[in-house]
Amino acid sequence: MNVILLGAPGAGKGTQAEMISRELRLAHIASGDLFRQAQSSGTELGNMVSSYMERGLLVPDEVTVRMVLEQIATLDRGQGFILDGFPRTLQQAEALEGALRDENKSIDRVLYIKVSNEELVRRLSGRWICRDCQAPYHAVNKPPEVSGKCDRCSGELYQRPDDAEETVRKRIEVYFSQTAPLIDYYAKKGKLLEAEGAQSVEMVSEEILSALKSEE
Ligand code: AMP
Repeated sequence: MNVILLGAPGAGKGTQAEMISRELRLAHIASGDLFRQAQSSGTELGNMVSSYMERGLLVPDEVTVRMVLEQIATLDRGQGFILDGFPRTLQQAEALEGALRDENKSIDRVLYIKVSNEELVRRLSGRWICRDCQAPYHAVNKPPEVSGKCDRCSGELYQRPDDAEETVRKRIEVYFSQTAPLIDYYAKKGKLLEAEGAQSVEMVSEEILSALKSEE
């Protein structure tokens, strides 16, 4: 099964994508993580990507599509995947569809996690991430057992620079203007499943898994 996870920044895509990839044995491909890796490599691509990320803007489609398709191409044949944070524009969605079609593959389901605007800002400003394994935490909703340390690998937790309030607001604005139209796009293709994101992490997980399993 190939799945797309759709939702605003802060909707819980990272947390849920991790759970889905574990439960359904899908490869987890997160465009934001790929860009953060490029950023820390200090290459020309990394510097270019930083200039967009720091402002809460989207990296140009051409660069983004190439990077994600390269990642999909590394998977074993028959290995399903979950895309987290991609596509984020109609152009990306169309490019993805074309590239998959060429390989006789397709997207089976698109999961949309719905969350209100105020809740998004509140969530993003309390978010902490493991520097080593990228596991997500939240000061209020999902604190680590030992402050500042990852439960899973003991890595150092940090706050993403683009989780500053002003950048968060810009990212949400960009989401509504450029990414939200994808909800309709996939609904019209009959691929959209919705989950209510304003519940506990566990309840969202349950809703998502039962929706996906009933489609298997
Ligand atoms: P994320 O971790 O998914 O919130 O992504 C962090 C940042 O990476 C975004 O604010 C964008 O600057 C960039 N980014 C991630 N995915 C995409 C995408 N599909 N298209 C364009 N830019 C992206």
